[in-house]
Amino acid sequence: MREGLEREIAMALMTGEQYVESIRNLHMNIWLFGEKVENSVDNPILRPSLNSVRATYDLAQEEEYRDLMTVVLDNGERINRFTNIHRSTEDLVNKVKMQRLLGQKTASCFQRCVGMDAMNAVFSTTYEVDQKYGTPYHANFRKFLEMVQSRDYTVDGAMTDPKGDRSLPPHKQADPDLYLHVVEQREDGIVVCGAKAHQTGIVNSHEVLVMPTIAMGEADKDYAVSFAVPTDTEGITIIVGRQSCDTRKKERTTIDVGNSVYGGMEALVVFDHVFVPNDRIFLNGEYDFAGMLVERFAGYHRQSYGGCKVGVGDVLIGATALAADFNGVQKASHVKDKLIEMTHLNETLYSCGIACSAQGTKTASGNYMIDLLLANVCKQNVTRFPYEITRLAEDIAGGLMVTAPSEADMNSPEVGPMVKKYLQGTSAVSMEDRLKIFRLIENMTLGTAAVGYRTESMHGAGSPQAQRIVISRQCDMNGKKELAKKLAHID
Ligand code: SF4
Ligand code: FE
Repeated sequence: MREGLEREIAMALMTGEQYVESIRNLHMNIWLFGEKVENSVDNPILRPSLNSVRATYDLAQEEEYRDLMTVVLDNGERINRFTNIHRSTEDLVNKVKMQRLLGQKTASCFQRCVGMDAMNAVFSTTYEVDQKYGTPYHANFRKFLEMVQSRDYTVDGAMTDPKGDRSLPPHKQADPDLYLHVVEQREDGIVVCGAKAHQTGIVNSHEVLVMPTIAMGEADKDYAVSFAVPTDTEGITIIVGRQSCDTRKKERTTIDVGNSVYGGMEALVVFDHVFVPNDRIFLNGEYDFAGMLVERFAGYHRQSYGGCKVGVGDVLIGATALAADFNGVQKASHVKDKLIEMTHLNETLYSCGIACSAQGTKTASGNYMIDLLLANVCKQNVTRFPYEITRLAEDIAGGLMVTAPSEADMNSPEVGPMVKKYLQGTSAVSMEDRLKIFRLIENMTLGTAAVGYRTESMHGAGSPQAQRIVISRQCDMNGKKELAKKLAHID
């Protein structure tokens, strides 16, 4: 390889350390527990979520994972796959494999997928908007994309508005800001007000890429807006959502938190008169394309869950098998069968993620879109199977997972010996190791990581009913009826 090319390649990928410092250099307006967070990077509640995103940078530096974690562009530049615009079904399949890998390494939501999914949806949609209206959005977006790729940025894809009264469209809400909208059209750009809820990984992102959240009509024109701005832009306030058991992280224990290194984070992000310059606008009033953008982003993100949740599932299944070993029940036939059932469910999700990728097709813009029907079937299964996997994990782990004393009690000179004596499992393993595995399972099934593994499996990338609507649209019921009629000799 040319020497210059090597240098170019090295420059396009940040190391994990460089990534952490790049986030430290931002000046985001972050709030947590009613207080402003001056340093999110070293905050004990937020740090595990930063570590998860950091893993997307660290693994890209490792020879072993290079092909999965990175992509070489036509110009020879090597970029992180999280900033890639999928150019083939192979790219789509590798995306899911990469997400499974990161789920396995972090057992958490590693947050960087929302930006990748948003960028791919905006890439193809802006192309089609421009074809119809002669707008400059695709060129604007390509400029943004090149910046993201060359700097190896993390982007937060922001879709979900707070939505207020769900029975009313955006323009009929009592408070017009319940959906994000344009409040001023200026010569040099637009000014927006509103908010985005459930923003995965925003405090660990360099940029936020905003999209509309539902299909819209003409009366909602001002709400049909898409753009990107740096996360520390004036007027943006980030209010971090709390998670079950989050303050355990402040106790600085390693055992009781279950997963002391990695985690995820979500936030409410408020846009108060945020200025967006012209070259960062990707949709501005073309309401007839809001639905396309939503469907494409949701489709990609429903594919994503067939990777990330499977990787987390791998860890949960492994932890459950260890709990069985430590409890001395590993030879019981029902335990073996439950572990097989967990694996079957997990691999079914993976099969869906791979299938919707392998069946992807090229869009007019040239990038690849997943098979919508299969991606929605994937996500529909994700709304169910992690719950069943979780149920089986709790079944095998036993009640001690939620009744065991704390790490501090275990280490206490007074009661520690009692805890160790009476909570010992098989003699082959220490009580401490047994407790570590229970806490890891607790973390994924009802602690901080359950935000990603359970409730996000239900509602992330759209609640179950949203997938059923797409499935009903895509399933070709009339075609199926014709098949039956023909065989039954019905004209
Ligand atoms: Fe990625 Fe999964 Fe987190 Fe979504 S939930 S950002 S797909 S890790
Ligand atoms: Fe998500």
